[in-house]
Amino acid sequence: MATFALVDCNNFYASCERLFQPRLRGRPVVVLSNNDGCVIARSNEAKALGVGMGAPMFKIRKLVDEHDVAVCSSNYALYGDISERVMNVLGASAPAHEIYSIDECFLDLDQLAVPSLAAWCRHLRETTTRWTGIPVSIGVGPTKTLAKLANRLAKKSARAGGVLDLSHNPEWITPALHKTPIQDVWGVGRRWTVMLQERGIHTAFDFAEAPDAWVRQRMGVVGLRTVHELRGSVCHALEDQPPPRQTTCCSRTFGTAIFDKAQVHDAVMSFVERAAEKVRHAGQVAGAVQLFVRTDPFAQNAPQKSLSGSATFHRPTSDTREIAATVRRIFDRVWREGFGWRKAGVLLLDLGLPGAAPASLFDALEAPDDRLMSAIDQINARYGRGSARLGLAQKDSEWRMRRENLSPSFTTRWTDIPSASLA
Ligand SMILES: [Mg+2]
Repeated sequence: MATFALVDCNNFYASCERLFQPRLRGRPVVVLSNNDGCVIARSNEAKALGVGMGAPMFKIRKLVDEHDVAVCSSNYALYGDISERVMNVLGASAPAHEIYSIDECFLDLDQLAVPSLAAWCRHLRETTTRWTGIPVSIGVGPTKTLAKLANRLAKKSARAGGVLDLSHNPEWITPALHKTPIQDVWGVGRRWTVMLQERGIHTAFDFAEAPDAWVRQRMGVVGLRTVHELRGSVCHALEDQPPPRQTTCCSRTFGTAIFDKAQVHDAVMSFVERAAEKVRHAGQVAGAVQLFVRTDPFAQNAPQKSLSGSATFHRPTSDTREIAATVRRIFDRVWREGFGWRKAGVLLLDLGLPGAAPASLFDALEAPDDRLMSAIDQINARYGRGSARLGLAQKDSEWRMRRENLSPSFTTRWTDIPSASLA
C-alpha cells in the first residue's frame, strides 16, 4: 500500500508575521488581502474570537479594537521566502516531495524504512518548527485525499498532537471519514457540496459509499477518482516535476479608480518589470504579451470599459526593454480617456526555453545584450526588489497598493533584517 503525507503549515501567513515580531505571539493576528480589504489568514486566537475567513475589515473593526487584534497587510515577499525554507526542510527529509501550495507539501513515504512512521512524523514536525519557526501539521494516508483528510483532523484534535497516521491505523479510517464534512473533502468545491448535500451525502463516509455509476454520471471521472481515493485506491500520484508554466501574469487591483493616463501607464510598466523578472527567474522566454486594463465591474453608476491588446514578439524574449516597448505601443493604441480604471495587468504568454525557440535569420544582429538584465536581477536579489530599475515606472505613485500595516521584509531586504542586542 502506498503511503502519502501532507504537511501543512498552521495559519501560515499569521505564523510568518509572528516569526520576527515576538510581540504578536499569544495575541490574535489577522492578515489582510491586497489593499487591506478582507481577512485571508487568522491565528488560532483570532479564530476563537469569531473572525471569519474573508471577513471585510470594516466589519471586524470593533472586534479588533476591543481585543487588541494585530492587523497585518499581506507581505508576500516574506511568505514566499519562508515557504521556500519550509519546503527545503521537507524536501531534504523525504524520498520524494511535491510542493502543492505556498504552505502545503505532499511527501511520498513509500520507500521510507523506519520502525515507526508516527514517530518519524513527530520528529519531522519538530525539526521543521525548530529550523524555520513555522508550526506544521502532518496527515498520513494510503492516498493523497486521505492524507489531506488526516491532516485536517491532526490540526483539530488536541490528542493527535499535530500528527495523524491513517496508513498504519486502518481502523481509524472509517471514524475519520465520518468526522469529515463533505465540503472539507479535497477536490469537492462549493457547487458539488450543494448537489451532494441535496442528495443526503453529508460526510466523506457517505460519499465513499456512493455507487460508482451514480458518481460518474453526476461528477464525471474527477468525482469518481475522489471516491476511489477515499476508499484507499490511489488515483493521484505524486507530481514532483510540475510542468513548466505556459503563462505568467502580473496584475493588480488599484486602491481607488485611476483616471490619469500617466498613472495607469506607470502601473503597467511596473507589471512589465515584474513579469519579465519572473520569466527570467524561471529561465524562460515569452513568445507574446497581452495587456489588459479595466474599470470596476461593481461600481454600478460609473461607465464600464475593458481594454486589452496583445502582440507577438518576432523572437521570443525575456528582455524588459523589448517587452516594455511592445506594451507601450499596445497601451497607446488601446487607451481611452474618461474612465476610472480599477485593475490592470500584463500577461506573458507562450513561454518556453530559449533554445527551443526557432531562431530568426537576424538573431545574431538583433539579440540584445542580456548582461544588463542579469545584472539588474542580481542587484535586486541582493538588495531587495526595486533596488535597480529601468526607470520605466515611478517608485512611489498613487496606484500602488494600500498596505498600511505591512511588516518589514525581514528575510529579503538587508535594511529590514531584525537586530538583537544584549543590552
Ligand atoms: Mg495551512
